Amino acid sequence: MPWADLPRHNGRVEATDHLKASLLAAIALANTFGSAWRQGRPATAPSTESVADVLRLTTNRVGSPDPAEYASGGKTLYDALSHLPEVDPAVELVNNLLRVTKAAPQLVRDDGAPWHLHFAGPDVSEATGWLAEFATAVAMLLGSDDAHRLRRCEAERCEDLFLDATKNRTQRFCSTACQNRTKVAAHRARTA
Ligand SMILES: [Zn+2]
Repeated sequence: MPWADLPRHNGRVEATDHLKASLLAAIALANTFGSAWRQGRPATAPSTESVADVLRLTTNRVGSPDPAEYASGGKTLYDALSHLPEVDPAVELVNNLLRVTKAAPQLVRDDGAPWHLHFAGPDVSEATGWLAEFATAVAMLLGSDDAHRLRRCEAERCEDLFLDATKNRTQRFCSTACQNRTKVAAHRARTA
């Protein structure tokens, strides 16, 4: 099974799947700050709530994140992932983000939960810690055979990136919404 697949048990992400959940959050954060068009609509300005939604993909503890603190890192992640399948230019951006966020592996444990790796260094802000975590998750992707699973949605008016979850690598759209929109447009074009 590719490492980036995300098994869930009873709707809860297991501790060992933490970095995989962080990859999905990293892609969501990249889209939040980098996509000009999302699922047919112009992107709205990132807000506390939209960043909180991203963080909830990987943690239950979400306060009131300041979008300004995530903007630069989020844009860098989008730029890096947008280079794929070309890995080399993405590597440079991600290596730089790993350095500026001082990503450092640390074993942490929530009450009653098993130890698991986080990548926030001990002396950084919460936002920098999450960006370090997301940069690490993307770095793991770039260093793996799964890098080619990262795609850009093929629908009109959508610039979202997504991780192809299909077995035969045929996913073309970020969501069923974009898939349906494209089908409807094609049908209209045929019957016009
Ligand atoms: Zn889309």
